[in-house]
Formats: sequence, structure tokens, C-alpha cells
Amino acid sequence: DRALIEVRNLTVDYVGEHSVVRAVHGIDFDIMEGEAFGLAGESGCGKSTVAFALARLTRLPGLVSGGQVRLNGEDVLKFNKARLKAYRWNEVSFVFQSAMNALNPVISVAEQIMDVIETHEPSLGSDGARARAVELFELVGIPPARLDDYPHQFSGGMRQRICIAIALALKPKLIIMDEPTTALDVVVQRDIIEQIVELKTELGFSVLFITHDLGLMIEFCDRIGIMYSGELVEVAPAEAILTDPQHPYTRALGNSFPPLTGARVRLEGISGTPPDLRSLPEGCRFAPRCPHAMERCRLEAPELRFYPTSQSEAACHLLN
Ligand code: SF4
Ligand code: MG
Repeated sequence: DRALIEVRNLTVDYVGEHSVVRAVHGIDFDIMEGEAFGLAGESGCGKSTVAFALARLTRLPGLVSGGQVRLNGEDVLKFNKARLKAYRWNEVSFVFQSAMNALNPVISVAEQIMDVIETHEPSLGSDGARARAVELFELVGIPPARLDDYPHQFSGGMRQRICIAIALALKPKLIIMDEPTTALDVVVQRDIIEQIVELKTELGFSVLFITHDLGLMIEFCDRIGIMYSGELVEVAPAEAILTDPQHPYTRALGNSFPPLTGARVRLEGISGTPPDLRSLPEGCRFAPRCPHAMERCRLEAPELRFYPTSQSEAACHLLN
């Protein structure tokens, strides 16, 4: 396995007039070639902020203040305008929750897809771009006869498939999906996710997947990173998140979700809330909510370490 993306010590701040809030605090992870990597955690944990940094979409008051995001060894955070233009769509593309609402209502879908293709691959010409658009519609399961329709003529699920088609248009190596199906009903969500899995197998791209639906994530992803309060507390094979969680927060998160199959159980939620990023506790950030917190936890921040028996990385003093 080769790493496609290497995130090293990535730090992202939100810069206010009077204060700076560190939303992502020096995190490290890799996304392997052809891998679906998930980022999970409660809202505000920094997962979307990470996705934006990888996409080079961080905008003020957000500021990437440290670290590297390497794509095949090149630092994405140092790309100039020209390199960035090639990076976007050709190497990395995005599908966000609101993507389907971002389609231009007065332009046909064909034109919108062809526009992305022609801008980034002008050598194809407009016939070539049209042929690619037909191919893409087939890939995502929409009859190409509908290419010249306008966005409002499609259902929400179809519009989101169109966004996936656009994301695939330049055959990127990585697709970043932040809550790509959250606005859709459960059956449509599952259909779309299954289709992305098929496409991934067929085309070999990698995915960074973010969703609040841990069940969906475990089903879809190869590995999952669990974020808490701007840090990664565990990175593990997807199935291990439920069956062999190492970090107390991962365990609590798993317990608070309904099982993948069968009847929904009563949620065993995590008491308390994540700490205020403006006044973080000393030591482990999870300590105020952790049932296992020890003296040491309140003094010393645990570091992410690899544990061969579970094939996972976790940051918790209990483990050593
Ligand atoms: Fe709990 Fe301590 Fe582990 Fe933090 S380091 S998760 S407080 S046991
Ligand atoms: Mg989010």
C-alpha cells in the first residue's frame, strides 16, 4: 500500500479580532491509494476543517497555520495558483452536503459538466467533453438522455449523483465527501454510497469521507480517524471502531450509535460536551468526560501511538 495523501502536524486556526481558536491541533494521518478514509467525531471536532484544508479551501477567518498535506510527496499547502488549478478537479474533487444546491439552476446539467471538463482538459474539445459527460451519467446511473435537463428537473438524490459525476469528471485521485448524502432520505443515501463504493473499486480513487452517521461510515470506509476537540484520538480499521475500540472516546461513540442491523437500541450517550476550544483542559482533552481519567491524564497530553495487536493508533495513557 502506498500513501496518496500524508497529513503531517496539520494545524488550523480561526483568527478572531481578539483571539485565536485552534480548531485542528497538529494532526497526522495518511490516506492510502484506493482507500476510503473516514473522519468521525461530534460536530465542532474539526473534521470539516481538515477536509477544507486538504482541498485548499480554507478561507479567513480560517487559517492553516502549520503542517503539511503531501500529495505523492508534494506539499499541497505550498501550491501556487497554477499548480492549484491543476490540483482541483484533476487530482482532488469534492462533494459537499449542499453540493446539489450549488448547481446553477439556469444552466443545463450537460453544460455544467462540460464546463468543468473543458476548463481543465481543453484538449478534449467540446465533442470529447460531451462524450465524457455521457460516460459520467452512465457511471452514476442516470440515463444520458437527461443530460440536457436543468437541475430542477431532477430529484435531490439525482442532483447529488450529478455532483458525484462532476467530481469524477477529471478522474481525480481523491474525492473529498463531507456529509455527501445527509440531506437525502436513508434509502437514497445507501444507494448512492453503494454506487460510490462500486465506482471506487472500478476507478481506483481514494475517498476522504465525513459523516455523522457512524454506521454508514463503518460500512463504507477502510479506515476511520476519530477526532475529538481538534485532535485525532484514534485511527483504526473501520470494523475495529466497533469491535475493538482502543480509546475511551471511540468506545463511547460506538456505544452511542445504534447497531448496524436489527432494532435500534436505546442510545448510551456520552455525558458532558466537548471542551470549549478557547479554554482547553490541561493534559488529555477528553479527561473531563472520561470514566477512566487518572491523575496523569490531567497533567500530560497523550500522543497518538501505533498498537500492532489492534492495528490501530490511539492517544490514551490507559494503553501504555
Ligand atoms: Fe481517558 Fe486518560 Fe485516556 Fe484521556 S488519556 S482518554 S482521560 S484514560
Ligand atoms: Mg461538518
